[in-house]
Amino acid sequence: MIAGVKMIKADLHTHTVRSDGNSSAEQAVLQAAEKGVSVLGFSDHCYTPWYDWGSLGKDLSTYIEENTSLADRFAGIIEIVCGIENEFDCWQEDSRLQYRIGSRHSIGFPDGRILIDESPVFLEEGLSKWYGGSGMALVRDYYRHIAEDVPKFAPDIIGHFDLVRKFNLSGRYFDENCSAYRKAALEAAEAAGDSGAIFEVSTVNLNRKRRHILFPADFILKFILEKGYQVTLSSDAHDPSHICGHFGYASSHLADLGFRSIMVWKNGSFNDVSLTD
Ligand SMILES: [Zn+2]
Ligand SMILES: [Zn+2]
Repeated sequence: MIAGVKMIKADLHTHTVRSDGNSSAEQAVLQAAEKGVSVLGFSDHCYTPWYDWGSLGKDLSTYIEENTSLADRFAGIIEIVCGIENEFDCWQEDSRLQYRIGSRHSIGFPDGRILIDESPVFLEEGLSKWYGGSGMALVRDYYRHIAEDVPKFAPDIIGHFDLVRKFNLSGRYFDENCSAYRKAALEAAEAAGDSGAIFEVSTVNLNRKRRHILFPADFILKFILEKGYQVTLSSDAHDPSHICGHFGYASSHLADLGFRSIMVWKNGSFNDVSLTD
């Protein structure tokens, strides 16, 4: 454990009722400000036909205007930033967005789509329908897509890089330690990192008390460090109580792995900030 690790209170990956979060943007700002958060970015899900119950509309104007008005209202108290969590298969653009998170939650086929992170039931249905029940076949396809997606769309941040692990408790679908898994993940990490995207280090699993893991896994984080790629912290909060949740743990963990600095948003752009005082 490295002494003097800073508490970073900037979080660009959060959701509200405008997509699948459970609070209004204003409630989120008020709760975040109360706990001393300095930067809060909204990244509601882009318009996605197969998640139309939990995504933004095709026109982002109301969303952007609401965020801008909150930014004005709370200026000097908390910096509000307007971003989006984009699907690589359904990319939405608007020049007024300040940043874009690129994420892959599903993989499409001519006769349907496997939903990777909705529920084990959907995951297993997709695995048997399109991958002959093989978790490793899904893994290879998932990382092959990521390796193509990130250079193609150039998101500012790559969301939950190894989301395919979400339901893989005790290796029930594939072995996360085998060399084939690691090779597929690192090839995608290299393609994503070389294209300049920042990897988010997501505390979502800790916030939701699922698996005690960060996205990405340590072997990927070590590779990111070795290659000199950049990381940022995010919570993927769907509830305001999770904003910046477990960031102290994540910062200490990054420092223990050897990271000296991370990217933190401030005053309209990303800055390289030391992890220690
Ligand atoms: Zn996501
Ligand atoms: Zn998200």
